[in-house]
Amino acid sequence: MVALKPFLETSVEYLKGVGPARAEALRSEMQIETFGDLLTHFPFRYVDRSKMYLISDIRDENTFIQLRARVIKTKTIGSPRSQRLVVSVEDESGQIDLVWFQGVKWLVDKFANGQEWIIFGKPQQFNGKWNIPHPEVELPETEPLAISKVIQPIYSSTEKLKSKGLDYKGIGKLVKTLLLHEKFCVAENLTPDIIERLRLINRQDAFLNIHFPQSPELLTRAQARLKFEELFFIQLRLLKQRISRLQKTDGHVFATVGDYLNEFYHKYLTFELTNAQKKVIREIRADMGAGKQMNRLLQGDVGSGKTMVALMCMLIALDNKYQACLMAPTEILANQHYSNISRMLSGLNVNIRLLTGSTKQPERREILELLDGSKPSILIGTHALIEDNVQFKNLGLVVIDEQHRFGVAQRAALWEKNQRTPHILVMTATPIPRTLSMTLYGDLDSSVIDEMPPGRKPIITKHVYDRDHYKVYTFLKKKIHEGKQVYIVYPLIEESEKLDLKNLEEGYLTVVREFPSPEFKVGKVHGRMKQQQKDAEMKRFIEKETQILVSTTVIEVGVDVPEASVMIIENADRFGLSQLHQLRGRVGRGSAQSYCILMTPEELGNDARIRINTMLRTNDGFEIAETDLRLRGPGDLQGTQQSGILNLRIADIIQDEKILKFARNVASDILNDDPELKQEKNAILAKHIRHIDEHQQNWGLIS
Ligand code: ADP
Ligand code: MG
Repeated sequence: MVALKPFLETSVEYLKGVGPARAEALRSEMQIETFGDLLTHFPFRYVDRSKMYLISDIRDENTFIQLRARVIKTKTIGSPRSQRLVVSVEDESGQIDLVWFQGVKWLVDKFANGQEWIIFGKPQQFNGKWNIPHPEVELPETEPLAISKVIQPIYSSTEKLKSKGLDYKGIGKLVKTLLLHEKFCVAENLTPDIIERLRLINRQDAFLNIHFPQSPELLTRAQARLKFEELFFIQLRLLKQRISRLQKTDGHVFATVGDYLNEFYHKYLTFELTNAQKKVIREIRADMGAGKQMNRLLQGDVGSGKTMVALMCMLIALDNKYQACLMAPTEILANQHYSNISRMLSGLNVNIRLLTGSTKQPERREILELLDGSKPSILIGTHALIEDNVQFKNLGLVVIDEQHRFGVAQRAALWEKNQRTPHILVMTATPIPRTLSMTLYGDLDSSVIDEMPPGRKPIITKHVYDRDHYKVYTFLKKKIHEGKQVYIVYPLIEESEKLDLKNLEEGYLTVVREFPSPEFKVGKVHGRMKQQQKDAEMKRFIEKETQILVSTTVIEVGVDVPEASVMIIENADRFGLSQLHQLRGRVGRGSAQSYCILMTPEELGNDARIRINTMLRTNDGFEIAETDLRLRGPGDLQGTQQSGILNLRIADIIQDEKILKFARNVASDILNDDPELKQEKNAILAKHIRHIDEHQQNWGLIS
């Protein structure tokens, strides 16, 4: 057994048929470095070799098909920097275009007219016409790779890898070599009990059949086994962490509610809390009073009043003689929280300070001294809060706003600052669908604000085609004359090589031309600007010196300018759905009727159309997040990439929702019986968890 681990960790270079050049390409293109990486480079689909489609039979966007068709024309389109290759093919039933956006230089000379190819791909509809983007192609006479000769595994590859002979088939050959290697063996990682109870196939058979299915039935069982295993260990780890947190009884106890909260509540709170706010405050209070460390996720749509909840929780910390801090992802947001909270608490004797990257040395020193605990303090800031020399005397509560911008490691650093871990409240305005949060935040408790403060006028959302820009400008002028402010958001700061996006700079010039000074004042914010410049521009907008703010998505998170009531999103088709929703949440904060205008070209792909229509149909963040997850898959959701947790190889948390819930139940049963996995029968599980720990740093450090 001992020798097995090194075998799967052998560099892929040493596999027969690889060598240095291919190894380098596998590493840079696919992050495949070891035998083990190759083993978990699963086929992304399988083709039934016995089945050929006719072009005229294509109906459905979401299924892979196999065609046999002849090249009739090849052309490249676009400038050399953003070239696209279009190969038109025909069979006896019709014609279709194959399209490549990448790797064109490897492909241009490949397709001779009249040559017949076997084509695998996923057809797509664009402007009412079908095409197949980035299909796999092979010549008809080549030998099938499949052992069963019917079920063919298809591996993802890239044009560069293909140029080195590693198309899906070349990769398949390498996998086959690995599986047939005399030393090949994978250790089981589930207990006999689980395997028997769930009638799973063993791990080795699962790996063999996931790559080279001996039958459709064995393929299904291999998939079920590997998906279960993947989701099960995530849940086992998360739940184990949660149990060990709850077993410790050394959390700060916030036993009382005292003067700070009472005075604020009765004297300074200018509105009635919503029932949802009251409910989550109760949940949080109970949690912080229980003697265990709180680890809670606070979800609520943009504008639902999370910050108010956080503020009241911080006052509870102060009432119990603890300090509190609030960490925001950007300086703009930290500043804004600072000025809002200072204003709201101005009548109370609380020491509120701001610490960011641009806090000057003398002031910084003074702040650090204040943290010695002599005065009740709330410290608000950015990453600067977790720098090494910031030492709190008795930090009781950490609130993290808009959590997805913080890296896991940064959060971990914050807890390590204290002998006793402070209570943690993570606030997120990107609603997280249940299955995703179960996986991402499976060990956190969750509170949801599911109600908006009363009196908000629903934002009017409109979709306008680019050719009607002038109408939008006329509308904007009217609104500006009424004293309203406007955001105009562009997708990217510079022209991308791949996509022909509207450039912010270009847009800015157009806007300045349309809205000339001195009648109008236009500001500009983008990610490439220095922090100070950005803050200065934001400040000008907040103070109404500028009426129009042209920006990239840097304004996406949290910024609150009540007078800004119109949001124009240019190239709205290029934004993700959650991002569009976040942007829309920037308006509708004051009492005026607000507008969100989605500008797009007339030609829209299917997904873009669904995104736009979803925005027009609903304002419900949860519904939008669900749709977003369905459209994009979890890997692309904001924050999940960065968190590094949801690195799923085979399971899909939407399609495999049942397996996920099941895996969570099984994990929970096991831990109920053996919370620390100390029993002999669970040794195999504990061992695999240790293995994951060693190989995936930062995994699950969210708690
Ligand atoms: P979030 O952080 O959830 O996006 P905020 O806490 O920034 O939302 O609240 C948005 C706005 O609504 C703020 O101006 C805040 O003062 C106000 N607000 C919060 N709670 C209430 C309430 N219960 N009634 C009325 N207004 C509220
Ligand atoms: Mg907020």
